[in-house]
Amino acid sequence: MSIPEVDVLVIGAGVVGAALIRELSRYELDLLLVEKEVDVSFGTSKANSGIVHSGVHDRPGTLKAQLAVRGCQLFPELAAQLGFLYKQNGAVVVARSREELAELEKLAVNGRANGVKGLSLLNQEELRRLEPNLSPELVGGLLAPSGGIVVPFDLVFALTENAVSNGAKLMVNTEVQAINPEQGGFFVRTNQGGIRAKFIVNAAGLGGSEVAAMLGDDSIQLYARKGEEYLFDRKLEGLVHRTVFPLPSQVSKGILVIPTVEGNIMIGPTAQRVETPDLSTSLAGWQEIYGEARRLVPTLQPNDLITAFSGLRAVGTTGDFMIAPSTLSPRFINAAGIESPGLTAAPAIAEYIVELLKESGLGLRRKQNFNPIRSVVRLRDLDFQAQAELMQKDAAYGQIVCRCEMVSAGEIRDAVRRGATTLDGIKLRTRSGMVRCQGGFCTPKIIRLLSEELGLPPEQISKNGPGSELLLGRLRAVQEEGRKEEQLHA
Ligand SMILES: Cc1cc2nc3c(=O)[nH]c(=O)nc-3n(C[C@H](O)[C@H](O)[C@H](O)COP(=O)(O)OP(=O)(O)OC[C@H]3O[C@@H](n4cnc5c(N)ncnc54)[C@H](O)[C@@H]3O)c2cc1C
Repeated sequence: MSIPEVDVLVIGAGVVGAALIRELSRYELDLLLVEKEVDVSFGTSKANSGIVHSGVHDRPGTLKAQLAVRGCQLFPELAAQLGFLYKQNGAVVVARSREELAELEKLAVNGRANGVKGLSLLNQEELRRLEPNLSPELVGGLLAPSGGIVVPFDLVFALTENAVSNGAKLMVNTEVQAINPEQGGFFVRTNQGGIRAKFIVNAAGLGGSEVAAMLGDDSIQLYARKGEEYLFDRKLEGLVHRTVFPLPSQVSKGILVIPTVEGNIMIGPTAQRVETPDLSTSLAGWQEIYGEARRLVPTLQPNDLITAFSGLRAVGTTGDFMIAPSTLSPRFINAAGIESPGLTAAPAIAEYIVELLKESGLGLRRKQNFNPIRSVVRLRDLDFQAQAELMQKDAAYGQIVCRCEMVSAGEIRDAVRRGATTLDGIKLRTRSGMVRCQGGFCTPKIIRLLSEELGLPPEQISKNGPGSELLLGRLRAVQEEGRKEEQLHA
């Protein structure tokens, strides 16, 4: 087999790698994005607060401030082009006491220095008028209307799908294991074989220091800071409209009340340095978060909680993003220490890295036929007429697989063609199994569809990659389900 030779190899398909590969796909280049996991966005970019930060929090003069503000500005157009789930809902930072009002004013000055537009200070009455369910104890707020919310993995899927449709290559299940400089670039060894690359970008998230070390670059030192998040039922939709922040602490933006794009309310995250990165949640985490969130919105009730998760920030040693060519080679760019607001900043990080690659000698010629648009069918968002037309074209859009979220067999099949190979891949692309019933009804049907589309026996279908298969042998129910559906639609 011949060894793939590419102009740019991007290591890591989180939001940074995805945004970069999409930005690079505007140019006539051979591009490859590699990801060690079974799917894209299975690292930190899957599990976070999903906030597009306005940029008020970051220290003026830092890359974080510059790239968060620019990233936030890029989101509305990007969402219009790529159709990912995003809403510019605005954010409000609140003060709990007269003393905190002075801190809010300082935050407003900070935000303006960063170039955040539209900031305004609110008195108690104005705050109550905007968000009537906030605690009456809060005395004022800072409104940042440019802030937004996004479904983070949907953003990553959209970016990679659009890059691939513009000619970039994606290899999942591909772990970079060694990097050797050679004439005009690098030879990279992966578990899937070798790759030759003229330029490399290290966007490996928590794996960033390991990947840099493969080149001999030990300047990237990272540790994991865990954040737990708790998701409430969609019946609370409208409890708050804007993302509600307390004043920030030394290490984080605090514990927030976040309305999600899909209408849930989420509270979190904690910020705890961990030596052994794991994704567990804890009673202590819940107690801390719930206690703090109730100080912002007192009517939150534990029995409306539906699920919890945690994510790991890759924190560097400089207090800022570490995005620069390695001192060992200008052709090797590190994008490391991308903690919050990395999701927000990712589109701007991508632009920034393209400039760095250019300075390092990458030739950039714009593609004549770059198509910035990605379209995806979401049955539940269509009106009755459009749904009927779609079902007439393909009856699979009329077979509802997930009743909670009204997801059809057609959308599940589309999700597989868009790259999903596991139940989690389907869940994140379509929302099936994501809410109240947590997959109780739809899982067997999805296993059957995945097995048909991928041409694999059902017992090889997994939750999130090898080792997480759900079936030990053939289930009669899965086979009969298939037979019944076929008879119904024959
Ligand atoms: C709890 C929490 C809440 C957050 N909330 C927000 C928020 O609201 N707004 C915001 O802007 N930011 C937020 N962030 C930060 C944001 O999530 C991150 O900055 C962002 O997701 C980082 O993306 P990334 O692409 O750098 O890393 P990742 O998403 O981790 O991607 C790196 C990828 O590289 C892969 N990889 C690693 N090593 C290798 C290898 N050797 N070979 C191949 N692939 C490899 C990994 O599998 C992974 O998929 C939050 C973070 C956390 C943890």
